[in-house]
Amino acid sequence: MKTYIVGNWKLNFTVGEASIYLHKLLKTLPNYRDLEVVVAPSALALQPLSLQIDRHKMKLAAQNGFYRDTGAYTGEISFAQLRGMVDYALVGHSERRYVLHEDDKMIAKKVAAAIRNRITPILCIGEIESERAFGETADVIRDQLLGGLSEVSDDELSKVIIAYEPVWAISSAKSAKLATPDEIREVVDLIRKTLLDTYGAKAAEGVPVLFGGSVSAANAGAYLTVPGVNGLLIGSSSLILSEFCDIIEIAKRVRE
Ligand code: PEP
Repeated sequence: MKTYIVGNWKLNFTVGEASIYLHKLLKTLPNYRDLEVVVAPSALALQPLSLQIDRHKMKLAAQNGFYRDTGAYTGEISFAQLRGMVDYALVGHSERRYVLHEDDKMIAKKVAAAIRNRITPILCIGEIESERAFGETADVIRDQLLGGLSEVSDDELSKVIIAYEPVWAISSAKSAKLATPDEIREVVDLIRKTLLDTYGAKAAEGVPVLFGGSVSAANAGAYLTVPGVNGLLIGSSSLILSEFCDIIEIAKRVRE
């Protein structure tokens, strides 16, 4: 299975800044077939960046998309409109769950809409700090995972990527803490077992599971060697080109 290094730029960079970053990244990026490097710029930058990108080297992701293809949905951008422009899309990121109040039902429709439009959804799931403190992590993870996948058939499961992002470890959290490899392993094992029990071994085995939460060049190596982790979803560290390149280099070395 490939190793995924996904940068989530969130609401950062003008279109011009995004283009300059991409230009520099493309120049330094190694051509390594087992590594899938992806960046998720703001929606505004997707069109120009899709014309600039070398898809043999890396891919683009949308940070979001709407579940209906067309219609009276002011302000939305559909996966149908994103089709052909991006290969991946984040769905259910914690900032959309908690700041923009997206629930599992809406997230499930978005996952289905992405697949329908040949875009691989990266379904983000993760518990908040109080849920972990009250011993509710396993229930939250199972609910978000199966809730988000509720419109995905057995055959379609291979078109999905899961990202485990404990919300308390995301750098924007007030008192973000680093997740330990053991904490990550426990949840990744649970994700894999839940997929296996629900979809069967054949379908579940091929699903990449990424980790995200304050990933930096200092901890990427440790996180990438957690058994069952197939890549990283990186927020703030992906905004610094040199750090993102260092993480890519670490991923390359871990795979060799
Ligand atoms: C994220 O929000 O997806 C994320 C992982 O952010 P950070 O790396 O900044 O914690």
